Amino acid sequence: MDFDGIVMVGGGIAGLATALALHRVGMKRILVLERAESLRTSGTAIGMWSNGWKALDALGVGQSLRQQHCLLQNSKLISRSDGTTVNIPIDTSFQELRFVKRALLLETLASVLPPEAIKFNCKVVDVRQFPRSKLMWEIELEDGSIIRAKGVIACDGVNSLLAESVLGLPRATSSAQCAVRGLSSYPEGHPFPPTRQLHMAEGFLMGIIPVTEKEVYWFISSASTPPDIWEIVQNPDRIFQWSEATLKEFPEEIREMVKKTSNDVIDMTVLKFRWPWSMLMGRLWKGTMTAVGDAMHPMTPYVAQGGCSTLEDAIVLARCFVHVEEDSINKLDESQRIIEAFKKYTNERRWRWIRLMTQSYITGIVQEGSNIFLKFIRDKIMLRIKVPNPSDFDCGTLPTIAPLKSSLLNQ
Ligand SMILES: Cc1cc2nc3c(=O)[nH]c(=O)nc-3n(C[C@H](O)[C@H](O)[C@H](O)COP(=O)(O)OP(=O)(O)OC[C@H]3O[C@@H](n4cnc5c(N)ncnc54)[C@H](O)[C@@H]3O)c2cc1C
Repeated sequence: MDFDGIVMVGGGIAGLATALALHRVGMKRILVLERAESLRTSGTAIGMWSNGWKALDALGVGQSLRQQHCLLQNSKLISRSDGTTVNIPIDTSFQELRFVKRALLLETLASVLPPEAIKFNCKVVDVRQFPRSKLMWEIELEDGSIIRAKGVIACDGVNSLLAESVLGLPRATSSAQCAVRGLSSYPEGHPFPPTRQLHMAEGFLMGIIPVTEKEVYWFISSASTPPDIWEIVQNPDRIFQWSEATLKEFPEEIREMVKKTSNDVIDMTVLKFRWPWSMLMGRLWKGTMTAVGDAMHPMTPYVAQGGCSTLEDAIVLARCFVHVEEDSINKLDESQRIIEAFKKYTNERRWRWIRLMTQSYITGIVQEGSNIFLKFIRDKIMLRIKVPNPSDFDCGTLPTIAPLKSSLLNQ
């Protein structure tokens, strides 16, 4: 099949948000290829900080998501070793933090895209430059079919096939840390205040965060992985056993909360990241191909910015398209304009990615470290000092009207 537009490979937050941003600036020929048979309807929640909300507002879906998730008013850091507790009120006139149900986020993004823009059951197995034109791509699906596209955006997550094989970025490596995430359900309403609780224990960090009036997100991120991790991740009963054993010294109320999680909203994952210096040099685009989200910047989740920064990517990328269209409509052909847009996008974003990847890596080491030095930094310094907030970032808005009648935009 010949597709005369831009293909997003992967229909997670990156693929759907990028497609929606391009759609919002007037690009009609967009296609998301997702390997699953439908949108992910299970899953837990994701911390959406002010920068993420700005991006969701730019996409036009912020308001409806806001209404369905509770606004957090306070952060509470608790050191389990000596009981030190630090309360940090969240200035809600300046900082907006809500945890958003992943399934709802994906459904909301997809609901405002034309239905024909998303194709399920499309596992991409190879992407290569078209032999007769280096500016076209052949996308091969698992069933053997081929889609030819003018541009490709890799949105295929942390284990991105495309980032590695086409962009030449190193494969994301395991940080030797793991995380369990769960969503507890309280049909009659939960007792937790709108506070993000972070319990720092030796070797792990636990978080408890209300999502709605009836659901509470919790996570445990551990500095090490159990030897049989790959068996545990496949079996929810074993994930529960591991979580209960890890939290055995925690108050009863917290252990009871974990028990209120059903099997389809608990998962465990080995954390992966890419070293930030791999982003320092070289191109982050190749011809008419680039990447968005975890495919481009896999990071450990310690600053809770992977998803928020993915939404920023989508806005910046779409805006770059418009700016290039405005500046060069009569000077460059369509493929060259895609290249220019990808160049502009990666230049604008590179240092933001490097900063977030570095900050999340260092934060993870300090938060979960068990040696005396790291414990000192965590309990005596980190609880007391104000570190730069990675969510202090505004990705800007999308131009409301596609200004020019190029063939990619407006046709
Ligand atoms: C424990 C944990 C906690 C986190 N907490 C937060 C948080 O609080 N706040 C925050 O902002 N971020 C958080 N993140 C990060 C966030 O989850 C990710 O950054 C975000 O999900 C990235 O979205 P994505 O679309 O790039 O990747 P994914 O969500 O992985 O989506 C990739 C999609 O591509 C599809 N796909 C993959 N390969 C192919 C293929 N070959 N062909 C077709 N389709 C394919 C997959 O099926 C999937 O749908 C956390 C991450 C972890 C691990």
